[in-house]
Amino acid sequence: MHYDATDEWEKSFLEIYVRHNAMACLLIPMSDLERGIAFAKSHPDRVIPYAEIDIDSPTVVEDINKVYSMGFRGLGELFAKGRKNYNDPKYDTIWAMAERLKMPVAPHTGILADGSMSTMRPAFLADIASRHPNLFIHAAHFGNPWYEEAAEATRRNKNLYFDLSGSSLIKKENDPGYWNQWLWWTDMLGKAHIPKDAVPAWEKILFATDEGPDALEENIRRFNKALDACNVSEETRAKCYGLTIAKVLGINTGGIN
Ligand SMILES: [Zn+2]
Repeated sequence: MHYDATDEWEKSFLEIYVRHNAMACLLIPMSDLERGIAFAKSHPDRVIPYAEIDIDSPTVVEDINKVYSMGFRGLGELFAKGRKNYNDPKYDTIWAMAERLKMPVAPHTGILADGSMSTMRPAFLADIASRHPNLFIHAAHFGNPWYEEAAEATRRNKNLYFDLSGSSLIKKENDPGYWNQWLWWTDMLGKAHIPKDAVPAWEKILFATDEGPDALEENIRRFNKALDACNVSEETRAKCYGLTIAKVLGINTGGIN
């Protein structure tokens, strides 16, 4: 979720996330790095700090080194806002650095608030995931509206995940079983055309919210409605809701795994 550098937001976040015994990867703007990392370090049981580096910045290499040394664990939300897509050679250094530093990346996919979308197709992330097998990518918004492209990209790349935050679950509120046509391969594991290291389809979808702390429960309701309609197992749900990202980031879940 996105961090907002105000007393009010931090208070609301702590109250609600303590009540739910929840943690969040907080996407912290570059303008608020100091305050954001101080907040994260004061609440290590609630906050996993991510830095919102600008992938088009001329100082991006220095920026990544800086946020890594400050204690940021991941990079995101990222945006290919220029005329180049995520798979452009211009960005190769960023993916190689993140892979080497073991920093997961959280790129935006699909339609963006400013109306742009074509440079942020999920297919570009499939190419990056394939070239950087040790880079963990958890991309936002399941490629909205390129769901099939996103699903096939994650089916074939064990290090590529998506979340369903944003408008998609609102759009499909009255059709919560919609997602299974794209997340189709759970019953086919071990059969032809399914990678040997593939996992149940819904394991590749991580819970996320693109709204403020007070919308956490509504986002859980929306996500659970889709999980229920798509008959997702309890074991898989636990991974969607945190066990996967905890494992990637080495977070102790008290013996639950
Ligand atoms: Zn986004």
